[in-house]
Amino acid sequence: MSDANLYTQFAARFPADMSACAIETPDGLYYSWDDMEHASARLAHLLASLDLPQGARVAVQVEKSPEALLLYLATLRAGLVYLPLNTAYREAEIAYFVENAEPSVVVCSPANFGWVSKVAFKANVGHVFTLGDDRTGSLLERAAYHSDTFATVPRAPEDLAAILYTSGTTGRSKGAMLSHGNLASNARVLHEFWGWADRPAGSDVLLHALPIFHVHGLFVASHAALLSGSKMIWLPKFDAQQVLRHLPRSTVFMGVPTYYVRLLAEAGLDRQACEQIRLFVSGSAPLLRETFEAFRERTAHTILERYGMSETVMLVSNPYRGEAAQVRRAGTVGVPLPGVFVRIVDDAGVASGQGEIGHIQVRGPNVFAGYWRMPEKTADEFTEDGYFKTGDVGKFDDDGYLHIVGRSKDLIISGGFNVYPKEIEGFIDEMTGVAESAVIGVPHPDFGEAVVAVIVPRGGAVPDEAAVIGALKQKIANFKVPKRVHFVSELPRNAMGKVQKNLLRERFAVM
Ligand code: AMP
Repeated sequence: MSDANLYTQFAARFPADMSACAIETPDGLYYSWDDMEHASARLAHLLASLDLPQGARVAVQVEKSPEALLLYLATLRAGLVYLPLNTAYREAEIAYFVENAEPSVVVCSPANFGWVSKVAFKANVGHVFTLGDDRTGSLLERAAYHSDTFATVPRAPEDLAAILYTSGTTGRSKGAMLSHGNLASNARVLHEFWGWADRPAGSDVLLHALPIFHVHGLFVASHAALLSGSKMIWLPKFDAQQVLRHLPRSTVFMGVPTYYVRLLAEAGLDRQACEQIRLFVSGSAPLLRETFEAFRERTAHTILERYGMSETVMLVSNPYRGEAAQVRRAGTVGVPLPGVFVRIVDDAGVASGQGEIGHIQVRGPNVFAGYWRMPEKTADEFTEDGYFKTGDVGKFDDDGYLHIVGRSKDLIISGGFNVYPKEIEGFIDEMTGVAESAVIGVPHPDFGEAVVAVIVPRGGAVPDEAAVIGALKQKIANFKVPKRVHFVSELPRNAMGKVQKNLLRERFAVM
């Protein structure tokens, strides 16, 4: 059997000169390809020494660092399943993921060890390690005792590589199961489609500012660099001024639309700063035409917008190559990637005509294997002929470019992060003095969308906006906490009793 382990495919493309730089950090650290190989080997040995069953999950909630990426690679090498968790998640959220995914290993920041270990041991997790963003913690201490060579465990294409949790409007998060084959096929397609393959190996430099608990930063960005032996400048987080400082030495930058809005607010963003860049990519949320045009005006670069999701990795992209690059179109996400089939259907599942708005369904080697331990939900989300129902609504224009029109599931995307209204409504409805609530997204110049709550008070109660926001901050990640809270005497409902969120969005559009 040939080995389909994703790490093996990366390693096959590592540069001949293994002393070349693979990762550079702003505070002056250099990791060579040799370092990547040996440090991930030590971590893989540590994981292997725990004698875990095949398919065991390694849940990771740590700050971004080169070691966090090495832990991901080590998990692949050991043949285990990587489960990244947003660093903003608090106790209630982590408890749900740990109970649902039943990981064998949990790795957390040293600062969170107290509460994470309590949650983990309560759920019978066997091993809890810490990993700081400054190379501290028990994970590296333990790994240091292990050998720095490791024979990567062979995997079949359908073996699981990662589980990414993505919530649903029902409020229950679902774990999207991605196989080595899903991730490898998408990485290879993007390697060709976005021009990494056209360049001499190792000649690109990726400026990596995205978080690595999400498909965009962990898979799309990192995989592209790993598969082409290209150096990454590894920023701990997005900071517009820091990005500007490193842009002149970079050739590729990937971001969410908010990053581009913030870069445009910097006087230093000009043609000279972007001279070496060959590709700016935007995704995870809609890029405003206004941003696309302002960026072109200022830098002479057209941002390439693409569309994908945790369950499928990347699906659709504006063109990269040659003359086609001239037709990167604002407001569209481009054309289906090679090997990916995208169709638009109406409510009855019948194919829509050109230009008609409908539900987006997709099929391809990149599409996930299903939701973790949710066979019924998985069955609901696939059609009989094997298409995945994305939950997004869109249309194709005459030239085959896809436009995303909205999200059928009322998902809010704030600053590139998904916020599921139902989850927040659940917390608000539990508060004293609240009869019911509706959470909506309204346009916001910086975050794309801002979370807003609309509350119907109970009886004669007079809840207070600041108190509601303060109470939510104790319970959920900051990016989910409403920026504004409005009070109404009743929620608008349609004949079927459904809350008409579109009316609320119109009414409360101005923050
Ligand atoms: P996630 O699973 O967190 O990556 O979120 C996936 C969702 O983000 C998709 O289902 C879309 O609703 C949205 N999305 C991703 N890329 C774009 C884009 N370029 N334009 C509009 N929405 C997008």
